[in-house]
Amino acid sequence: MTDVRVLVIEDEEPLADSIKYNLELEGYEVDVALGGNSGLRKFKEQDPSLVLLDVMLPEISGLDLCRMMRADSDVPIIMITARDSEADKVTGLELGADDYVTKPFSMRELLARVRANLRRHEMESGTPNLDEEVLTGGPVKLDVGRHEVSVDGEPVQLRPREFELLAAFLRNRGMLMTRDRLITEVWGMDYFGDTKTLDVHIKRVRKKIEPNPKAPRYLITVRGLGYKFVDD
Ligand code: CA
Repeated sequence: MTDVRVLVIEDEEPLADSIKYNLELEGYEVDVALGGNSGLRKFKEQDPSLVLLDVMLPEISGLDLCRMMRADSDVPIIMITARDSEADKVTGLELGADDYVTKPFSMRELLARVRANLRRHEMESGTPNLDEEVLTGGPVKLDVGRHEVSVDGEPVQLRPREFELLAAFLRNRGMLMTRDRLITEVWGMDYFGDTKTLDVHIKRVRKKIEPNPKAPRYLITVRGLGYKFVDD
């Protein structure tokens, strides 16, 4: 079983400590951030399984943080709201939070919410891949569900990242794909590695799909901006 990591973003230190203590008793790995900036940093670094997020925070508000996290991630987010702040609850849910607890709450209630949200998320992401999407472009046919690629009807073997990369191009045929977008789509928002990695993968994909990889006809470079996949 992989470790379940919970990120607690809460500036009331005694409350944060108490939450951490109780979650750790349940076997979760817990990290605490006492402000918005450190919360966002830890979120990006640690890729937590669930986030507990106070609405009233210094530096960045919990609602803004929620919006930022939700832009790139479907991690379960439970907002911690103050009593009588109905507006915060509604806004939080509208911004993509999954659930909320209202101060003061019992640890028992909080743990129940954490468990329920983790379970729901696990079920949703554990759904078997029934994807029947088949993408085509030029001589290339890419079957997402079967994880198969052919060029002019001949099967070719792609590594997982090469496959993702080619799929991203075929889904956006004819469109400029910037380097940033490709890296985000294929390697994820938290990728901080060398961007040369992208060029290496482009080269490998070209070798597998282009009649002449040195003079690409389909996967072409848009100088200074990125790449695009074009039909003949
Ligand atoms: Ca607070």
